[in-house]
Amino acid sequence: MLTKLQVPFLKPAQLESAVMDLLRRYSKWKGAVPRPPIDIEDITEHHLGIVFEVADLREMLKMGDVLGAAWFDDNVIRVDSSLEGKEGRFSFTLAHEIGHWWLHRPYVEMEKVTLPLFAHEKNAKATPAIVCRTSQNKERAEIQADLFAARLIMPESDVRATVKKVCDANLPVIGGLRKRLDARQFDSQLRDYAGEVIREGNFTNVSKEAMSYRLVDLKLVLDKAEHEQQRRLV
Ligand SMILES: [Zn+2]
Repeated sequence: MLTKLQVPFLKPAQLESAVMDLLRRYSKWKGAVPRPPIDIEDITEHHLGIVFEVADLREMLKMGDVLGAAWFDDNVIRVDSSLEGKEGRFSFTLAHEIGHWWLHRPYVEMEKVTLPLFAHEKNAKATPAIVCRTSQNKERAEIQADLFAARLIMPESDVRATVKKVCDANLPVIGGLRKRLDARQFDSQLRDYAGEVIREGNFTNVSKEAMSYRLVDLKLVLDKAEHEQQRRLV
């Protein structure tokens, strides 16, 4: 019943510059360069002027797996109350909704994309333009919002500077890393490394899982076999 939000393909560099644009504006508005932990609630409420609430969205929208939703017309973002107390997932979800706001709001407004009408439901004030559920995480708009969120709460320059402190010039090389990542399996070495980067860099609103993916994405951790192959090629 959900209509898919159609959005254009964005290259990683385009996503990066969208995030940098937001961080630059926020920095100028605040008069200070934001440092981790990036205050996502401050960006949402005070910089962007969006009303932010924690709500029982599962009840409000009658969906079991909803994490967050954005009501563009009402200027409201809501995060599901089940994420309260889970600092990393909570901040990531809010940053993800900001991603929709920043990247996708113009398309929703331009095309007047109509998502299901919840207006008749009790407690639902109006129809949310965006509803984010765990079961939708393969859709392009959802992937883009995730990538946006990761870049927003873990800015590349801060992650790189922290890794330099943690590892000096020797990036960790982990055997079987690629295989486990492809199989979406837990990698204890990677998580320990992510934990260290979080502590050292003060990324207190980032989960180890999110930092693990960010470190892989930035190639700040290496797969042993790939690393050896590259060394042979040099
Ligand atoms: Zn979403």
